[in-house]
Amino acid sequence: MRADDLRNNLSEVERRVTEACKRAGRDRSEVTLIAVSKTKPVEDLQTIYDTGVRDFGENKVQELTGKIPEMPADIDWHLIGHLQRNKVKYIVDKVKLIHSVDSYRLAEEINIQAKKHGVIVPILIEVNAANEATKFGVKLEEAKQLCEEISHLDGIHIEGLMTIAPNVVVSEENRQIFHKIKDLSVDIANENIDNVDMNILSMGMTNDFEVAIEEGATHVRVGTAIFGERNYNI
Ligand SMILES: *Cc1c(COP(=O)(O)O)cnc(C)c1O
Repeated sequence: MRADDLRNNLSEVERRVTEACKRAGRDRSEVTLIAVSKTKPVEDLQTIYDTGVRDFGENKVQELTGKIPEMPADIDWHLIGHLQRNKVKYIVDKVKLIHSVDSYRLAEEINIQAKKHGVIVPILIEVNAANEATKFGVKLEEAKQLCEEISHLDGIHIEGLMTIAPNVVVSEENRQIFHKIKDLSVDIANENIDNVDMNILSMGMTNDFEVAIEEGATHVRVGTAIFGERNYNI
């Protein structure tokens, strides 16, 4: 995409994020905009980087590890897609945050690799808030227990929750879902589990990020509205 168009897209998204923060009585600094750059060429990422964005999200390990050496070193990379255990070793020490932990077995592998690399890995628990068969993530009712189990792994630090809401046309339809996830995070925070924080809520994408911000998102993951439609056939 042309650099001008990318910059215009970004400033429009930025304007909408700022407006949503205002409506919710929140400070703009409470919300991190993650530019979701999957399938997009590094030239496009560089254009967005040059405007000052430092948080980028990718959903595939191979694509992520390919892009990291091509881009400036001060980027905070977010792994937002489903993570297979055999790929954990390639990214544990390279990402700012893993958004997609939904099983103890995956957490165990992250813990093993964290120790090998001498790091503590910040993660989010992915919750399948609408209980969709096609989506990864634990059920709402299972999230607290998974947090408790993972809290004993000292190579991992739980920072909060992530959800991918249903793909709806009218973003209002997802308000309930975001509200539920926020409630759940307050619930878990009140348990005061050692080694578990609930400071991050990663929710909201191109179709619904404003509603997510109004309901308490601290991180929104926006791809299409910044980089344009994705073409998976190339
Ligand atoms: C692709 C993706 C996004 C961004 O989606 P858009 O609708 O293009 O903004 C956000 N989160 C996850 C987990 C994704 O895979």
